[in-house]
Amino acid sequence: MEKQNLVVVAGAGGFIGGSLVASLRGQGYKRIRAVDLKPFDEWYQQFSDVENLCLDLNSKESCERAAEGAADIYNLAANMGGMGFIENNKALCMLSVLINTHLLQAAVKSKVKRFFYASSACVYNGDKQKTFEAPSLKEEDAYPALAEDGYGWEKLFSERMCRHFREDFGLYTRVARFHNVYGPWGTWDGGREKAPAAICRKVIESKGTGRHEIEIWGSGEQTRSFMFIDDCLKGIDLIMNSEILEPINLGSSEAVTINQLVDFAEEIAGIKLKRNYNLSAPKGVNGRNSDNTRIQKYLNWEPNTPLRVGLEKTYRWIYDQYMARERGEGPIARNAAAD
Ligand code: NAD
Repeated sequence: MEKQNLVVVAGAGGFIGGSLVASLRGQGYKRIRAVDLKPFDEWYQQFSDVENLCLDLNSKESCERAAEGAADIYNLAANMGGMGFIENNKALCMLSVLINTHLLQAAVKSKVKRFFYASSACVYNGDKQKTFEAPSLKEEDAYPALAEDGYGWEKLFSERMCRHFREDFGLYTRVARFHNVYGPWGTWDGGREKAPAAICRKVIESKGTGRHEIEIWGSGEQTRSFMFIDDCLKGIDLIMNSEILEPINLGSSEAVTINQLVDFAEEIAGIKLKRNYNLSAPKGVNGRNSDNTRIQKYLNWEPNTPLRVGLEKTYRWIYDQYMARERGEGPIARNAAAD
């Protein structure tokens, strides 16, 4: 890929999209177009040497504007959040189908060379995730389809859309199924945050208020794996440049229970908290882990940052954000020209 070619990142005001823009800049890409629905002052990361556009990609016209002259498009724009958000906003999550559909059409129209789509582990069949023993999900476990209601069905449909645009229109598409991504510069408050960020924030809050208690959604025995953002970015790059035509897992295979995740956060904070389990809160499937046989086979690599290491970096970043808010300051956004 020529570093002079125009690269478009959709969803660049969000967690992974913003980090992808930072990474592409770091790799020496000179022409980057960052697009998001949110007003600029709400983007986690924004760079003044990048073309920043505020567009609603639900509309076909906006997608055409975003795709104009592009060589590569990375679609990381979606309405999403943790379990609390996706269980209560199924229609909104499904409407993200408009973004991917219109972006694919615009990509064909603009003769875009390559298209990346961010899918999710939520496409997997719920019946295969009933036990707490962290069943490792292989790519074929998405079928017969019984995806996470709302959000997961949209992802599964959009994956297939990418496949058929490749088969019917010759568009180069690559699809990765992300498993729980976490790290700095992401959502940590407000209802859309995912478990690692939510737990870090709750631990910081408990420490700050002196009320040494924490609410945990579900029994805490649910198993998950969590991928650090640096691994996610490396995986996106490897998959975009690979010959992997079918959707592939991009996730850590280090399974932990939510209780173990809390253990790590407590250890980082140097505190022990009384745990209150809220069994009626949204908790998702009982067990889920990424089977990395296929990514190992094709790329001889898999996400490998230990959770304890990535969580410490995330905790420190959320701590700084939290303290800034306590001081009455706005969110600390990364806004740089050349760092
Ligand atoms: P995020 O919410 O931080 O970022 C998504 C961005 O898309 C937001 O900034 C949002 O404003 C933008 N967006 C939403 N609707 C838009 C529209 N109509 N037009 C333009 N922009 C719009 O989420 P994220 O964690 O960065 O996730 C990025 C992608 O990865 C999403 O597709 C998500 O479904 C997928 N994914 C993420 C995870 C994870 O753990 N974070 C796991 C699986 C899949």
